[in-house]
Amino acid sequence: MKKVIIVGAGIAGLTAGVYALQSGFDTTIYESHTIPGGACTSWRRKGYLFEGGLHWLTGSSPNTPLNKLWREVGALDDDTVIHNRDPFFALEYKGHTVYLYRDIDKLRQHFLEISPEDKTEIIRLCRDINKFTKISMPISDIKGVKVKERAAMPLSMLFSMLPALTRMSFYANQTAGEFSMRFKNPILRLLLQQVAGSENNAIAAIFTLATFASGDGGYPEGGSLDMAGRMAKRIENLGGTVQYGKKVDKVSVLNGIANGVIIDGEYIEADAVIVTRDTLAAVDTLFDDPIREPWAQKMREKTKPMLNTFICLGVKADLSDLPGSLYFIPEEPIFCGGVQLPSIGLNNYTGYAGYAPEGCTAMTSIIAGDRYNYWKACKANGTYESEKQKLAESFIGILEKKYPQTAGKIAVWDVATPLTYERYLGSYKGSWMSIIGKGDKMTTYPSKPESIQNVYFAGQRLSGPGGLPAAAETGRKAVQYLCRDTNTVFQGNI
Ligand SMILES: Cc1cc2nc3c(=O)[nH]c(=O)nc-3n(C[C@H](O)[C@H](O)[C@H](O)COP(=O)(O)OP(=O)(O)OC[C@H]3O[C@@H](n4cnc5c(N)ncnc54)[C@H](O)[C@@H]3O)c2cc1C
Repeated sequence: MKKVIIVGAGIAGLTAGVYALQSGFDTTIYESHTIPGGACTSWRRKGYLFEGGLHWLTGSSPNTPLNKLWREVGALDDDTVIHNRDPFFALEYKGHTVYLYRDIDKLRQHFLEISPEDKTEIIRLCRDINKFTKISMPISDIKGVKVKERAAMPLSMLFSMLPALTRMSFYANQTAGEFSMRFKNPILRLLLQQVAGSENNAIAAIFTLATFASGDGGYPEGGSLDMAGRMAKRIENLGGTVQYGKKVDKVSVLNGIANGVIIDGEYIEADAVIVTRDTLAAVDTLFDDPIREPWAQKMREKTKPMLNTFICLGVKADLSDLPGSLYFIPEEPIFCGGVQLPSIGLNNYTGYAGYAPEGCTAMTSIIAGDRYNYWKACKANGTYESEKQKLAESFIGILEKKYPQTAGKIAVWDVATPLTYERYLGSYKGSWMSIIGKGDKMTTYPSKPESIQNVYFAGQRLSGPGGLPAAAETGRKAVQYLCRDTNTVFQGNI
């Protein structure tokens, strides 16, 4: 039996692990952290559970091809409860609240009530959301691989996607921020900027809206940690091993052929290595000579990394009357990395059992934006901890003013910066997805380099904009290449 080493037990590594084991490879995953999941993670502080990764899962709906993959790798099973929160989020502005409903008719009606002057754009948007609900991420087999069961998208599904395809370039050629300016009403503009980030091209926004409208994009109960835990369990049940606290220093390559990895100076032999650490970081650091193939150069030059600063709060108050996800404009200015935040987003986990002690609430906030250099400078000049504290205190001040029931009730706070993500994930600038900007193509990168044999890549960076579906799909694809190269039948089904 051929021996395979996988670098990293994030979602790409765990996916690759399950498929490699099912296809008959002797598989070991080496993970530098002490738990599985990578960026798909949560952590506990003083009885509060903070969801740090998964906010919605594309493919949670059984009507999608991706759902089959999630079930094959154990991410979802028959016992997993999926929460499809509706409205998905709310935005408050000058005393008005706008809701993002999953139901397109309800959404259209609600938007028209808020802004009759935007009738034409609202009708067009809702019509397009409906068209994009027919688009699903395809899960297919690579050319020439032997498979136990072929994965092919039915022709009827392909035809139903055609109307959306004709609208692609319209959305691809403007940012979500620019698209929002087609609407006259400021609250609708703000909402459309928040849906998927205003820097991304508007495809991200329309896809996100369509994902919710199609009944997909749910939150599996237990979130990131439970999902990664189920996948790690599947690996164990298939006879594989995940070795935690083991950082791979180098992939060992002899005469252009990978033959194992180096961990703490020890050489561990393998017939093939699947690297799932962020490819952008891996091509420069995991090999004695950086990989300089054209695709790797393109990745270095073109990637616009998505990163964030993350605030978590444990509040000794029941906030179940607040929406699950809420954006609002703070009355007092708040800054992160010297940049004033135009709005604040709050995720409220009161609806989920086990996230906080009885009568208390776990809350999180994602502050999007590349503040890597700012936090790096803070680390260098010794102000890192005090700046994190300042940010948390001004955030808490805003929360207490807006919701007086939280005043003096903050039991715990935590701030994760891009340096935290970098330390745990080893990813480029601590990023975990890529921005696809105005006019950018959805680039996909190869699963294997040309200059080294027996090495395969997987992970979010290989298929923009990334995220959990890209991590899983590229993990599956890496194993298909491995199967093709070793004349092995790829076995995917449960
Ligand atoms: C705040 C936040 C919210 C998000 N929300 C969503 C969402 O709602 N939906 C969605 O789809 N996606 C979301 N994402 C993105 C998603 O979590 C990531 O894109 C995805 O988890 C990436 O998976 P991966 O396996 O490619 O990479 P990673 O998760 O980075 O996994 C790589 C693994 O390799 C390990 N590793 C690195 N170097 C080494 C080494 N040298 N040796 C051994 N191990 C190593 C790391 O510890 C890590 O476990 C979110 C991410 C964040 C941070």
